[in-house]
Amino acid sequence: MNLLDLLESSPPLFIGTCTFLGLMVGSFLNVVIHRLPKMLELGWQQQCAELHGEESAPGEPYNLLVPRSACPHCHHAISASENIPVISYLLLRGRCRGCGAAISPRYPIIEALSGILCGFAAWHFGFGLASVGAILLIWALITLTAIDFDTQLLPDDITLPLIWTGLLFNLNGTYTSLHDALLGAVFGYLALWSVYWLFKLVTGKEGMGYGDFKLLAALGAWLGWQLLPLIIILSSLVGAVVGITLIVAVKHGRDIPIPFGPYLAGGGLIALFWGQTLTQNYLQLLAQ
Ligand SMILES: [Zn+2]
Repeated sequence: MNLLDLLESSPPLFIGTCTFLGLMVGSFLNVVIHRLPKMLELGWQQQCAELHGEESAPGEPYNLLVPRSACPHCHHAISASENIPVISYLLLRGRCRGCGAAISPRYPIIEALSGILCGFAAWHFGFGLASVGAILLIWALITLTAIDFDTQLLPDDITLPLIWTGLLFNLNGTYTSLHDALLGAVFGYLALWSVYWLFKLVTGKEGMGYGDFKLLAALGAWLGWQLLPLIIILSSLVGAVVGITLIVAVKHGRDIPIPFGPYLAGGGLIALFWGQTLTQNYLQLLAQ
């Protein structure tokens, strides 16, 4: 019996394996969240320098693998034993072994979130392609949420491949038919694109970014056009609740933009797991 047969025959083993994988990759997602925006910025600076005809000095390499992870305060290199998802944070009591500086709880939270959601996806979809896709989508959405939260950016390097992989997974109708996935990608983009331009023409302000259009296009490609209204309603609801809470509780200025990406991602996740059920129940309510 090979490993795949074993995973197929035992749901608890499959769920456990996916949770473990989620925890391990969650650790890597932290690296992507931290470094990708900086890599993009370095790239833009280099392009600007080239445009101005300046020689840009080749700096130290900076990518997802190099340099090795280190404490931002004392540059103590993080060893493998300090890099075990969630557990290391608990063992170190949230402090750097070198200098004792506090480590952001966001690292273990992202790792735990990735582990829990991957395990949940494995339980929800069971052994098969749908679980594999759901796990990839979860990783992309977690990463986009955190990057958008930090920098108000939704990098093309993640949103565009997410559109193409969504279409690929639906080539044989994993989540929806290819027809509905294609329309989902197109209408997802155009829906927010038209809201953006309408809002801009009326108020002269920019309400959201092009990254939001691409993210909704990706969710449409994964889940089909039928779930787009649900995703928009869910993300607006969550966005309104969080936005009002922030303005009231933290006196978060009304003019400071609140990124929309995290809410789209949240709406997309809910739609991934319960979209079909929610829309069916809603349609039944309408029919009564
Ligand atoms: Zn340190």
